[in-house]
Amino acid sequence: DTDRILTAARRPEDVDAALRPRSLDEFVGQKAARENLRVFIEAARARGDALDHVLFFGPPGLGKTTLAQIIAKEMGSGFRATSGPVIAKAGDLAALLTNLEDGDVLFVDEIHRLSPAVEEVLYPAMEDRALDLMIGEGPSARSVRIDLPRFTLVGATTRQGLITTPLRDRFGIPVRLQFYTVDELERVVTRAAGLLGLAIAPDGATEIARRARGTPRIAGRLLRRVRDFADVAGHALVDRKAADAALNRLEVDQLGLDAMDRRYLTMIADIYRGGPVGVETLAAGLSEPRDTIEEVIEPYLIQLGLVARTARGRCLNALGWKHLGLNPPPGAEA
Ligand code: ADP
Repeated sequence: DTDRILTAARRPEDVDAALRPRSLDEFVGQKAARENLRVFIEAARARGDALDHVLFFGPPGLGKTTLAQIIAKEMGSGFRATSGPVIAKAGDLAALLTNLEDGDVLFVDEIHRLSPAVEEVLYPAMEDRALDLMIGEGPSARSVRIDLPRFTLVGATTRQGLITTPLRDRFGIPVRLQFYTVDELERVVTRAAGLLGLAIAPDGATEIARRARGTPRIAGRLLRRVRDFADVAGHALVDRKAADAALNRLEVDQLGLDAMDRRYLTMIADIYRGGPVGVETLAAGLSEPRDTIEEVIEPYLIQLGLVARTARGRCLNALGWKHLGLNPPPGAEA
């Protein structure tokens, strides 16, 4: 469903670049990760070395790309970006790596989608800064080793479990990003409103922050849509009332859930009596890819405690029933 306002997946109309924080100081939230990164960057800089390889994992829109860019900036290095599915062949990766400059940050989004052949090339590149290339075919084939410039690989993935163990083990700095608190998102919204030249009252920022699914990208998107409604209605200031009216028109409910989230919850409640129900079954029923359900829809519903992932499938919790305004049927698991 491409109309999902709350999907944290990137969309072309997100003019994300304009709102991206450019330094660790500007970056809101993720306190532990931010402070650790600051130390590692400072230490690497003092040694005149490249930063160790970094792996970010966490749901879309939490700032993985932003942090990768900030790392390059704070290291004073160049930044190159690509993504797992784009690197089709081992040769594509070899071309990328041999074109790096000393100290560069190479950002690989969706790194769990690299093919096994490409991953094989990556291991010695990460470990020994070397590339083992096969030249020729048949009996005359031989392997040559090419030294690479010092570089930092920054990988991003939506779930740690998706990445192979040998690849994961080669990252010296694994970082899990968390959903943002309402306070943190309030700061994200206020900062973004400033950059967009939009007048927003503190209670307006709080309202958007509360309903942004713990995700800065969604907060930015909601802010833009709220601005549209405010512009058309002729409101000079976005306060709680204006934000609430706009968010209701967008069908974003009080918990920040949208129509797709509610369809998901309703399906477990109505058809499967609260579960357990397998994710494949839900994917088929909702006509959504399983990945979207697991990476985009479920993490926040689980975080809120509306749903639980169990070995036998998904179950609606008491809070989930309550949010739908329903009572669990007698004998339902909850
Ligand atoms: P990811 O790579 O995890 O999908 P991005 O780094 O692309 O997420 O972040 C999406 C957008 O959200 C960014 O363009 C930026 O505007 C905003 N954003 C992310 N993290 C922060 C943050 N900590 N503070 C302020 N804005 C943020």
